[in-house]
Amino acid sequence: MTANDYPKKCGYVAIVGRPNVGKSTLLNHILGSKLSITSRKPQTTRHNLLGIKTTEDAQIIFIDTPGMHLNQKKALNRYMNQEAEGAIKDVDLIILVLDRDIWNETDERVANEAFKTKIPVIITINKFDKISADNDIAPHIKNLAANFPTSKIIPISALLGHQLDLLESEIKNNIPCREYYFPNDQITDKSERFLVAELIREKIVRQLGAELPYETTVEIEKFKYEKNICHINALILVEREGQKKITIGDKGERLKMIGRESRLDMEKLLENKVMLTLWVKVKRGWSDDKNALKSLGYKSEY
Ligand code: GDP
Ligand code: MG
Repeated sequence: MTANDYPKKCGYVAIVGRPNVGKSTLLNHILGSKLSITSRKPQTTRHNLLGIKTTEDAQIIFIDTPGMHLNQKKALNRYMNQEAEGAIKDVDLIILVLDRDIWNETDERVANEAFKTKIPVIITINKFDKISADNDIAPHIKNLAANFPTSKIIPISALLGHQLDLLESEIKNNIPCREYYFPNDQITDKSERFLVAELIREKIVRQLGAELPYETTVEIEKFKYEKNICHINALILVEREGQKKITIGDKGERLKMIGRESRLDMEKLLENKVMLTLWVKVKRGWSDDKNALKSLGYKSEY
């Protein structure tokens, strides 16, 4: 039997695009599970994350990337760019996500990086549900087709799941026939510890929005199953005293809310009862401190 006769397909697919176009939402919808955190704020996703979808005939290994940033001054931003650029070098297929007919400098840069690799690229026009009837984006699609003639262009709604079946079958057409790399029941490469920390960070980003710069991180100090309950202690690190006050809120109300929502999501993810304890601590300048980043698990070279 030659490689091409192998009855199953398996491949790596990088999801790339400017921050906030809907990459993580797309991954979560395809996987049917909340793996990657999302929010209205750009720069929510920081690490590359594998999401693995295994069916009868194919295993698609998605890589959700942090998106690329033009501001490369801070160590954290440089790290995020490296994660995104590294992810697209060794994949079988790239999915470029665009937000409706918006096309700016960052979209252009991401597209250039993607097409430079010579790896096949599928272009998805996301948030199609937000396009009103009087907003004709056909000229934009025509333009893209002219500029990127080798790419299929698929309008989708990652949020509502529109046209994701079509996208999936197009992905399968573009990945090689080979044995599965991961066991059938594995859906990610990340530990439960990592995923729960991300869930807390998502609640903070969503709750505090503009009040808190994105320089917040979460460290899990304890993660232990005892008598059928998962005990999790987490430390929220912020940059300034004022941010600590905002995060805790009046009489601790905000922290309580962050804790409650995080716990509910964790219980769904872990399928287990969770006892969660949160603390907030000031750690000055961590987002621009290489050693602090390393100690928090941002491990690439930068
Ligand atoms: P990422 O930074 O590219 O990973 O973007 P996210 O997945 O975090 O999504 C950014 C924001 O866009 C979130 O508020 C999502 O709910 C929203 N969003 C993503 N996809 C869609 C979509 O298809 N339709 C609509 N209306 N909103 C979307
Ligand atoms: Mg994301």
